[in-house]
Amino acid sequence: MKIFNTLSRTKEEFVPLEPGKVKMYVCGPTVYNFIHIGNARPMIVFDTVRRYFEYKGYQVNYVSNFTDVDDKIIKKAMEEGVDASVISERYIAECKKDMEGMNVKPATTHPLATQEIGGMIDMIENLMGKGYAYRADDGTVYYRTRKFKDYGKLSHKNLEDLQAGHREIKVVGEKEDALDFVLWKPKKEGEPYWESPWCQGRPGWHIECSVMAKRYLGDEIDIHAGGEDLIFPHHENEIAQSEAANGKPFAKYWMHNAFLNIDNKKMSKSLGNFFTVREISEKYDLQVLRFFMLSAHYRSPLNFSADLMEASKNGLARIVTAVERLDERIASGLEKGDGEEAVREQAGELVAKYEAAMDDDFNTADAISAIFELVKLSNTSVTETSSRELAQFMRDTIVSLCDVLGIITEKEEELLDADIEALIEERQQARKNKDFARADEIRDTLAARGILLKDTREGVKWTRA
Ligand code: AMP
Ligand code: ZN
Repeated sequence: MKIFNTLSRTKEEFVPLEPGKVKMYVCGPTVYNFIHIGNARPMIVFDTVRRYFEYKGYQVNYVSNFTDVDDKIIKKAMEEGVDASVISERYIAECKKDMEGMNVKPATTHPLATQEIGGMIDMIENLMGKGYAYRADDGTVYYRTRKFKDYGKLSHKNLEDLQAGHREIKVVGEKEDALDFVLWKPKKEGEPYWESPWCQGRPGWHIECSVMAKRYLGDEIDIHAGGEDLIFPHHENEIAQSEAANGKPFAKYWMHNAFLNIDNKKMSKSLGNFFTVREISEKYDLQVLRFFMLSAHYRSPLNFSADLMEASKNGLARIVTAVERLDERIASGLEKGDGEEAVREQAGELVAKYEAAMDDDFNTADAISAIFELVKLSNTSVTETSSRELAQFMRDTIVSLCDVLGIITEKEEELLDADIEALIEERQQARKNKDFARADEIRDTLAARGILLKDTREGVKWTRA
């Protein structure tokens, strides 16, 4: 199995630290809003990486954090006049709902930064003891970047170039050097804070991940992953902290997904060019979003468009229909069929093709092509004269390969009555607020699921088509 390692910028053979086990850390979202589909890309991609390792027989310890203390969370809490924890808990719960919709498995552990402050203080003290960190007069603790000789090895930047970008920022009494970054910062009025040996305050962002990875996976891990915007400075700084504190190489393989773009620009909250996963779920089954994400290699930029989503919807439907057809053949197939060994062999070759694609740095685009070839083989070779066994074999093969991609091939369950009623209630509310676009959207969502609405004097009545 080969993985492209950002550290070496080459594809390397995957050799686990411990045979049969994978220790994997994926940087999770900062929870101050609904996640957008850009944030969903690493979730889907690395969940698929995890599933493929499991398919290969590895036991995967998968850790992904929630950053639940941050300027943006605090700002939102102040705007709403609530505690920061109210905001973070709300959006963690919403994020977990989105993950479930996208069939992203819960991590082995989802640590929260606010629950790990003790570990962060310990690591900062360790770094201070070794001369890698210092306290400035205002109580801020900084990392002494130049002392870490390997600084820049992940992002392939050198200190001189970095220095040139920072020339003006030397402020006396604060940082010793413009390249130094924050490990601990003093609280401002009204912000959440923790006691520490340096001041009442809170941790910097980078130290969180170093500490959570150490606590749940150990000093050395197999894979550390996230979006490519995290390479610098976040992951570079994580390496500096962890390797200086633990005295060991931190992660063997660094994996980074490329951006999800819209009009060829990175989708981001700050540019305002985003769709939330929740918005997409109103138009599409989230399985379609997942299928769309995996239709490209994870290191290629992917441009979001309605056309590509439609194409994904159709592609997924082709697979689901093939599986349904196989179900019919299983129910009504014969005891014995002729010449079926050849079909099984062809299927076996396509499974090998799928595995070769996944073994080559998780090429899900080619893996999906192999599934389509299987679907075609199934549609042409499993006929009225085929055996039940062959139909079952083809079904199991297609379903298991889709399952590795997290693609569910069973027809989606019908909406439950309670969900229908909640949507109808929301539609009434939208109409009252004269938000007719939203009201129409809900009607269309329901219609797409076969639910018909009728306005009567006694209120809205509904039936299944
Ligand atoms: P954030 O909440 O901004 O820290 O992002 C959480 C994760 O989403 C990180 O791994 C980011 O790299 C990733 N991410 C954010 N925006 C995008 C995007 N447009 N495309 C792909 N990944 C993204
Ligand atoms: Zn991180």
